[in-house]
Amino acid sequence: MEFLNQKMRSLDEGNLRRHLRRVEGAQGPRIRFEGRQVLNFCSNNYLGLADDPRLQAAAVQCMHDQGLGSGASRLICGNFSAHERLEQKIARFKNTERALLFSSGYLANLGIIPALFDRHDIVFSDRLNHASIIDGIILSGAQMRRYPHKDVLALEKMLRDCSPAGRKVIITDTVFSMDGDTAPLDQIVALAERYECLVMVDEAHATGVLGPEGQGAVEHFGLQGRIPIIMGTLSKAVGSFGAYCCGSETLIEFLINKARGFIYTTALPPAIAAAAYQGLEIIEQEPQRRESLWANTFFVLQGLRKMGFDTAESQTPIIPVILGDVETALDFSHRLMEAGILVTAIRPPTVPKNTARLRITVTAAHSPKDLEYLLEQMAFIQKKVCINQRS
Ligand code: PMP
Repeated sequence: MEFLNQKMRSLDEGNLRRHLRRVEGAQGPRIRFEGRQVLNFCSNNYLGLADDPRLQAAAVQCMHDQGLGSGASRLICGNFSAHERLEQKIARFKNTERALLFSSGYLANLGIIPALFDRHDIVFSDRLNHASIIDGIILSGAQMRRYPHKDVLALEKMLRDCSPAGRKVIITDTVFSMDGDTAPLDQIVALAERYECLVMVDEAHATGVLGPEGQGAVEHFGLQGRIPIIMGTLSKAVGSFGAYCCGSETLIEFLINKARGFIYTTALPPAIAAAAYQGLEIIEQEPQRRESLWANTFFVLQGLRKMGFDTAESQTPIIPVILGDVETALDFSHRLMEAGILVTAIRPPTVPKNTARLRITVTAAHSPKDLEYLLEQMAFIQKKVCINQRS
C-alpha cells in the first residue's frame, strides 16, 4: 500500500490533507470544538434548529413509539408512518403533488439523476454545482455539458447548438454551497421552456432560508409548478437529517421503482423523520427566525465588504471570503481559531484552484455581540495577513 503513503505525502506537500476535529455537545452558535468553547461560524444550521428541544422531543417521542433503527429499506419493511407523514408535509410545504425521502442529499442526487437520465440524454450543469450532482451525472452516463457559473447567455448558446435528439435537462444548485450566490432561476426556467428542456434544482441551502414562507428559491422566484424535479435536504435549515425529492405523482412513483439510491439503502430512522417534521413546522410558524437570519447576514456581509474583503457575489448566509492561496486561507482560519472563532478554510478540490477561502455561515442564533466580535477579529487579522482584496 505504498502508493497510499505517496498520495498522502503529495496532499501534505500541497497543504491539502484534511483532518477530523472533534465536537462535543450540541451544534449551536457556540460549540465545544477540540476541547475548547468557540464561536461557530461554519455550520449550515441556519435557523438554529439543530439543537432545538422541540426537535429532540419529537425524535424521542417517535423513538418510544417506533424504535430506533428502521431495519430495512422502505420497500422491504422499513416504511414507517413517520416517513409518510413527513413526505406529505414536504409536498404541502413545497407545493408539489408528492415527495419522496432519501437518506441523505448526496444519496438523493446519486439516486435521482441516474434514474431519470442515461447516455442518450444531455445534462447542462452549472460549473459550481455540488459534488453530489456531478457524481450523479457521471453515474447516469448522460453527456455532461458544464456551463460557466450562472452564465445564461452561454447556456442558451449551448442549448441552441445541441442536437435535438435525446432528452435535455438543466441541473443547478439554487444557492451555491461555497459561494452563497443564487442561480438566476427565472432566466433558467424561461430558457428551459423555450428549448423544451427539463429543469432539476437542488434546494439544499435555500430550504427554510429563501422565499416569503421559507420554501426555497422556487418560491423566492415565484416559479411554483414550473420546475418538475426539486430536491433538497433536511440537514441544514431544517435542523435534522435526510433529503427529499418532490414533484409530480408520476415522478415519485417512478423514483420509488427506479432510483437505486432509494431502493438499495436502509430507510432513515423514523425518529429523524419526526424531528424533520417538527423542523418544518417551526419554519412555518416562526418567520422571525428567518428575519433574524437575514438581518444577521446583511450585517456581516456589509461589514466584510466595507473592509474590502472579496465576498464574491454572496447574497445569502453563506459568505465566502476568498483569499486565493491555500496557505493564506489556512493561516487566516488558524488565527480566527486563536481568537476563539471557528471558520474552516475551504481548499481545492472543493473550490476551484486559487480560490481558497474562508466559508463563513451566519445563523439566526448568533447574537449581535457574536457578529461584532467576528467582524472585529476579521479586521484585526486582515491587518496582519497579506491577502488579495477587491479594491
Ligand atoms: N446538495 C448541496 C448543494 C449540498 O451543499 C449538500 C451538502 N452540503 C448536499 C447536496 C448533500 O446533502 P447531505 O449533506 O444531506 O448529504
